[in-house]
Amino acid sequence: MLEINNVTKTFGTGDSLFQALKGVSLSVKEGEFVGIMGPSGSGKSTLLNLIGTIDHPSSGTVTIDGERASNLNQEDLAKFRRNQLGFVFQGFNLMPTLTVAENIVLPLTLDGEKVSVMTKKLNDISEVLGIESLLNKRISNISGGQAQRVAIARSMIHEPKLLLADEPTGNLDTKSSKDVMRLLSELNTSLNSTILMVTHDAFAASYCQRIVFIKDGELSDEIIRHSSQSEFYDDILFSLKQLEG
Ligand code: ADP
Ligand code: MG
Repeated sequence: MLEINNVTKTFGTGDSLFQALKGVSLSVKEGEFVGIMGPSGSGKSTLLNLIGTIDHPSSGTVTIDGERASNLNQEDLAKFRRNQLGFVFQGFNLMPTLTVAENIVLPLTLDGEKVSVMTKKLNDISEVLGIESLLNKRISNISGGQAQRVAIARSMIHEPKLLLADEPTGNLDTKSSKDVMRLLSELNTSLNSTILMVTHDAFAASYCQRIVFIKDGELSDEIIRHSSQSEFYDDILFSLKQLEG
């Protein structure tokens, strides 16, 4: 599903060059739920942005479902992003003056989708996420946890092959974090969506099947969930301690 081959990313020019990624390689299978963890500034968001074709690698390649973004022209790239990828970010990026329903179908509106198709997809995803009662409310009138569900609904409505989430529980309380993580794992299993999630929260990470750790722009460790979620949580805490030490 995703093939990252020896990717580097350098920011800046002249004397102020900074290498944020120093040769990262990673393969993700279809339907996998992978977590990316590491200290602040280690390159997690940079990596996610490269995968999301929001930014380009300085060298190396990113291949998603056999397609290499660097080979696409501007128009095809925009289409690729809209059709194949879903994004969930910490700040939600929802339109405050629109209703929940309008926000969720926005990606389809931009694609000129038929109203009947949009309505069906809206109803389906709302049911999965349990947000039917919110559909006519404005974003400014719902809670943070509810807004994050709406953001997930919007990012999933076109059934993307790959969902990229950067700190999706970053500003949520424990209860809402748990709800959001349950939803993501449900989407992962029921729709077989491939998910890549950056998080610094070990509890959120314990919902993943595999965690890759980044330090100073390089992959430093990887752990796979073999047993229960609580044992995996302990494994994650242990690895995080090693990463810091
Ligand atoms: P993380 O998400 O792991 O906290 P980032 O990927 O956001 O880290 O950033 C990695 C490093 O790259 C940081 O040192 C950051 O300052 C730097 N960086 C990120 N984006 C840019 C940019 N657009 N210009 C210059 N430096 C950047
Ligand atoms: Mg980040």
